[in-house]
Amino acid sequence: MIGGGVVGLALADAWLARNPTDSVVVYDKEKSLAAHASGRNSGVLHAGFYYAPDSLKARLTRDGNAMLKEFCAERGIEVRNTGKVVVTTSEEQLPSLMMLAERGQANGVELELIDEAGLAELEPLARTVDKALWSPNTAVASSSGVVEGLAQRVRERGGRVELDSAVTGGGPGWVMSMREGYLSAGHVINAAGLYADTVAHWFGFGADYRMLPFKGLYWYGNWEPGRLQRHVYPVPDPRNPFLGVHLTVTVDGRAKIGPTAIPALWREDYGGVDGLKPRELWDVARTFPRFLTSKHHDVPGLLRTEFPKYSRTHLVKQASALVPSVRPEDFTERGKPGVRAQLLHVPTGKLEMDFVVEGDDSSTHMLNAVSPAWTSSLAVADYVVAGIHERV
Ligand SMILES: Cc1cc2nc3c(=O)[nH]c(=O)nc-3n(C[C@H](O)[C@H](O)[C@H](O)COP(=O)(O)OP(=O)(O)OC[C@H]3O[C@@H](n4cnc5c(N)ncnc54)[C@H](O)[C@@H]3O)c2cc1C
Repeated sequence: MIGGGVVGLALADAWLARNPTDSVVVYDKEKSLAAHASGRNSGVLHAGFYYAPDSLKARLTRDGNAMLKEFCAERGIEVRNTGKVVVTTSEEQLPSLMMLAERGQANGVELELIDEAGLAELEPLARTVDKALWSPNTAVASSSGVVEGLAQRVRERGGRVELDSAVTGGGPGWVMSMREGYLSAGHVINAAGLYADTVAHWFGFGADYRMLPFKGLYWYGNWEPGRLQRHVYPVPDPRNPFLGVHLTVTVDGRAKIGPTAIPALWREDYGGVDGLKPRELWDVARTFPRFLTSKHHDVPGLLRTEFPKYSRTHLVKQASALVPSVRPEDFTERGKPGVRAQLLHVPTGKLEMDFVVEGDDSSTHMLNAVSPAWTSSLAVADYVVAGIHERV
């Protein structure tokens, strides 16, 4: 297994559950668990109503939500059942809200259309225009807590989780590990997150795809825990794969604004010049124009709305359209930024909206493990492992 984020660990866990005597090793290049997206996200357990009904995301998020809650209960990991409201800021957004309600129904996700009075009961701080959606199954948990719990279960099942162990090359039936050198493998699984495209290319997969990283910034509020009770989200722009600036409640009850979806300059571009890789800067510079000219997204609109969000005041002002009592002076503590491992389909210039899995009988590649792959991880792992067993 290349990559020990939530997806790689869930895959190792699912493999061992089916094949308890197999030797499974997870290699991660970092010295600690949850160093990238799996430990730098909002920790929101999504319900699965945003996604096209025929997508993998729709099914695997709905099922993954229930599976992750069960896993947390089994491992004593706290889940805060906040639920979530989706609110509108203008009448023009009502048709999109109705479309989300229909998607929820098509995806088998519990969702309720509520009016302003209903919203006031559920989340008195939020505002909407006429109608809102209530998702009772959306929740929140500690993202790194889940990763640690999964690593523990992999070890209990007899697997190895090797940290500080970058994989530097590979091909059908083998990988090269920095620590252990040449290794032969019955099946290699690539769950390398921001590097999933690079690893897939070693094996001859993902040829049409390049990573186009997007950075997510967060700001915490100084409100007393529990003041905001529900996650509050806007109606998303259907032409872009991001959900828009929202307010979430952390597992310990704090209010948090973000994340943004600002183009990142390199894959692990968390701020400053730490980890700057000129080669990656060049790759992003070469890939970005393909996205800029894409007919599939409102790219100028996305850039116009995202870049100003580098300004905290601007970002908080955006959030105040959903929760008017939010003020810039109350949201001054920076959260840990994350980078989305977003794939671009180079021939069409389209950002992939769904999870992408490619492979053959000797390797499998989990490409585009974007949000909500943390929520979906256990269902994704069952789906991928079942697919491998059908192939080999
Ligand atoms: C800002 C942000 C907010 C999000 N919010 C949510 C949310 O609220 N809910 C939700 O469900 N999802 C959310 N997501 C999405 C979610 O975090 C990801 O989908 C999920 O974490 C992907 O897991 P992963 O294991 O694929 O990636 P990662 O966690 O990035 O793991 C990949 C691992 O591979 C390792 N690796 C890479 N290359 C190599 C190599 N060559 N050798 C060895 N190891 C290697 C890396 O060190 C890393 O640990 C969010 C993502 C971001 C960025």
